[in-house]
Amino acid sequence: MNDNKDRELINMFKFRKIALICLYTSLLFLALSNFSLVFTVVGIGLIISFFILSSRYWKCPYCGKAFELRHSTMDGSDYCPSCGKKLK
Ligand SMILES: [Zn+2]
Repeated sequence: MNDNKDRELINMFKFRKIALICLYTSLLFLALSNFSLVFTVVGIGLIISFFILSSRYWKCPYCGKAFELRHSTMDGSDYCPSCGKKLK
């Protein structure tokens, strides 16, 4: 049971990191979208990945409350703002 929660917590932060990388890379691609349609398509694909990963993993494993999608203080927080359980 505890091992399971530990794994969920590790996944939560791992996929959050990947999701943020997708988001920022997508901004880069969209900034280059004037040059080629490929950049636009890849950029939009990355934004969609960000939303899918975030909605799947960026939530509290204890109470299930979804965290803020935008890059915020929540990313550095050690505790769930909703139930107060330790996250790191
Ligand atoms: Zn919680």
